[in-house]
Amino acid sequence: MQRYSAFRLALEALRGHGGWQPAWRDAAPKDRYKVVIVGAGGHGLATAYHLARDHGITDVAVLDKGPLGLGNVGRNTTIIRSNYFTAPNIRFYDHSLKLWENLERELNFNVMVSQRGSLNLAHSDGQRDLFARRANAMRLEGVAIEMLDKDAVKALCPLIDVDNGRYPVVGGFLQRRAGTVRHDAVAWGYARAASARGVDIVQHCEVTAIPREGARAMGVETTRGFIGADKVVLAVAGHSSRLAAMAGFRLPIETHVLQAFVTEAVKPLLDIVVTYGAGHFYVSQSDKGGLVFGGGTDGYNSYAQRGTLPMAEEVHAAGITLMPALSRLRTLRQWGGVMDMSMDGNPIISTTPVENLAVSTGWCYGGFKAIPAGGTCLAHLVATGAPHPLAAHFGLNRFETGAVIDERGVGPHPYLH
Ligand SMILES: Cc1cc2nc3c(=O)[nH]c(=O)nc-3n(C[C@H](O)[C@H](O)[C@H](O)COP(=O)(O)OP(=O)(O)OC[C@H]3O[C@@H](n4cnc5c(N)ncnc54)[C@H](O)[C@@H]3O)c2cc1C
Repeated sequence: MQRYSAFRLALEALRGHGGWQPAWRDAAPKDRYKVVIVGAGGHGLATAYHLARDHGITDVAVLDKGPLGLGNVGRNTTIIRSNYFTAPNIRFYDHSLKLWENLERELNFNVMVSQRGSLNLAHSDGQRDLFARRANAMRLEGVAIEMLDKDAVKALCPLIDVDNGRYPVVGGFLQRRAGTVRHDAVAWGYARAASARGVDIVQHCEVTAIPREGARAMGVETTRGFIGADKVVLAVAGHSSRLAAMAGFRLPIETHVLQAFVTEAVKPLLDIVVTYGAGHFYVSQSDKGGLVFGGGTDGYNSYAQRGTLPMAEEVHAAGITLMPALSRLRTLRQWGGVMDMSMDGNPIISTTPVENLAVSTGWCYGGFKAIPAGGTCLAHLVATGAPHPLAAHFGLNRFETGAVIDERGVGPHPYLH
C-alpha cells in the first residue's frame, strides 16, 4: 500500500500528481473464499479489515451490489458519540469512540475526525431529569459528560432560540469528545487498508441466493456467478431481512427510510452538533460549509433510497423552530437511506440459525458511529465463534429469551425506538 504523508503530497505536487496509485484493488471474484462478507458498507469493510489485522484471516471477499460506499455509510449525517444510557451500550459505543480517535493513524487515511462536541437539548424539567440520569450512567462508566443550564446552552450556541415560545430550552447535555467524521472517507479508508492486507473488494456483485446444504450455507449465488465460502457474513443494513430470507431464516428487522439534507455553503456559524429535544432534528456544519441535518424515519416500510416532500417540511419546520436563522438558507440536496430497524432499537451482532452464517444488523439510525467497534466485534465472532465481550448483549437470541435492550426506557414498543 502506498503510504500517505505530507512528504508524499509535496512530492506528487511537484510531479503533477502522476504517481498516485488506486487506493484499493477492484478485484474480480474467485471461486471460493474462507469468508465472504456481503455488503461493502462501513460494517462489512471494517469487519474484513479486523479479520485480516486481528486474526490473520485474509482469504476474504467483500461483495457489494453497487459501487463501494453508496449505502448508508455514505448517506448518513456523520455523527459519532457515546452518550448512551445502559452500561453495556455505553461500553460498546465508547470503545468505538476511542477507536475513532486513533483511526486516521491506524488506517493512514484522513477520515476527518472532528471532535467538536455534541449537545442534546432539554425542553422540560422531566427531560432534563432524564438527561441527568443518562449523564450519571455515563459517569459511572468513566465517560465524561456535562450538564448545561439554559445560559450555558446560549453561550455555547447562540443560534439556538432558547426562549422559543413553543418549546423553550431549559438546558442540555454536552459530550465534548463526540463529533463528526467524513462518512464516505470511512468506507474508502477501511477498503484501502483491508485491500492492502489481501482482502478482495468486489463491486457490482449482487448476492441473489444463499444456497444451503442442511444447516450450512455453501456460499453465495451472485450476478457474477457462484462463490463458495466456509463462512458467510451479512452486513447489508436495510437489506438484512431480504438476505436472511435467502438463507432461510427470519430476522426481527423492518426496513425504513431515513432522510438527510444539506444547505448551501456558508461561513462557519455552527461549531458543534446540536440535537433538538422537542422534535426530530439534528444538525452540524460540514467542512465545506453546508449545514447537514436530518430527522426521524418516514414511518412506513420502504426500500426507496430517496427523499420525500412531507419529511422535508417536517424536518425544516423543526429546524427553524430551534434555530430561526436557518430560514435564510437554501437547502440544496435531500436523500434517503434504507435502514435496518430492529424491534428493540439495538444492533444484532450474532450467529444465526444457519451454522456458518453471522449477521451484523439492527443499526437503526446509529450504526455509523459503531463502525470501528462493530467491525472489531463481528470479526471476533467470525474468527473465534464466540461473541466479543463488548457485544455479547447484541445476540439474536435476546428476542427469544425476552432479554431485549431497553436503551430508551420506552419498553417493548418498536414504534417508540
Ligand atoms: C440519513 C441517515 C442519517 C444517519 N445518520 C447517522 C449518524 O449521524 N450517526 C450514526 O451513527 N449513524 C447514522 N445513520 C445510520 C448509519 O449510516 C447506518 O446504521 C450504517 O451506515 C449501516 O451500516 P453500513 O455502513 O454497513 O451499511 P451500508 O453502507 O448501507 O452497507 C450495506 C451494503 O450492502 C449492500 N447490499 C445490500 N444488498 C446486497 C446484496 N444483495 N448483494 C450485495 N450487496 C448488497 C448495499 O449496496 C450497501 O453498500 C444514518 C443513516 C441514514 C440513512
